[in-house]
Amino acid sequence: MSERLTTEQIERYSRQIMVPDLGGKAQMRLCRSRALVIGAGGLGSPAALYLAAAGIGTLGIVDADKVELSNLQRQILHATADIGRPKVESAKATLTKLNPDIEVPTFAVRFDESNAEKIAQGFDFIVDGSDNFDTKFLVNDLAVKLGIAFSHAGIMRLQGQVMTVVPGKSACYRCLFKAPPPPEEILNCQASGILGAVAGTLGTIQATEAVKYLAGFEDGLLTDRLLVYDAKTLRFREVEVRRDPHCAACGTGGRMSSSIDPA
Ligand SMILES: [Zn+2]
Repeated sequence: MSERLTTEQIERYSRQIMVPDLGGKAQMRLCRSRALVIGAGGLGSPAALYLAAAGIGTLGIVDADKVELSNLQRQILHATADIGRPKVESAKATLTKLNPDIEVPTFAVRFDESNAEKIAQGFDFIVDGSDNFDTKFLVNDLAVKLGIAFSHAGIMRLQGQVMTVVPGKSACYRCLFKAPPPPEEILNCQASGILGAVAGTLGTIQATEAVKYLAGFEDGLLTDRLLVYDAKTLRFREVEVRRDPHCAACGTGGRMSSSIDPA
């Protein structure tokens, strides 16, 4: 990446360069930054589209699945012709079509303890768009360990929640939730359905936080508070989150090596 924006980049990103809180310097930071999107699904799709459009220089995508017909109602990176194709392939094609200026490294694997650190190493921000608690806790613990800021989000039916974690500065996901819920509750969540636009709202908030963080915003991030969205009544509310000194991930009581901790 050169030291200056090209004429084409200045035109492509002009509407965000005009934003007083951003400007050309922030745009250059975005063009040099690296974000990792875990899951090219309901949350990852809108997040990755906005991050690609904003010119995040390197946009990694992790997903082991293939596109299915039932994904298309919310996973807007993929189209009908992509059914059966690996999601990372379909995602990369869509994102580079939108913005050929960016690199899109892909990882067609399930993000787990065997590969997580190797994949995440070197990224500046993680968007967690995963759909299961094991991955969400793994992302949290790894991000805290490596000192990578990330956005957590969860969605179900007509509701969602989102929070940004800046390791060493803010409360983490495990400060709030401690451990994954019991298996019977998880099964209920997966069978519960989701409105596509709710995933879109939450994924878009995740992209907003990623851009803010990568552009160098120090204040105003969605840290130490969980934003809860209820689309049925169209209300947002915030839950204050405090850093837990005994947190198994970020507390002073020692770091854990595994995300799977029944305690
Ligand atoms: Zn914590």
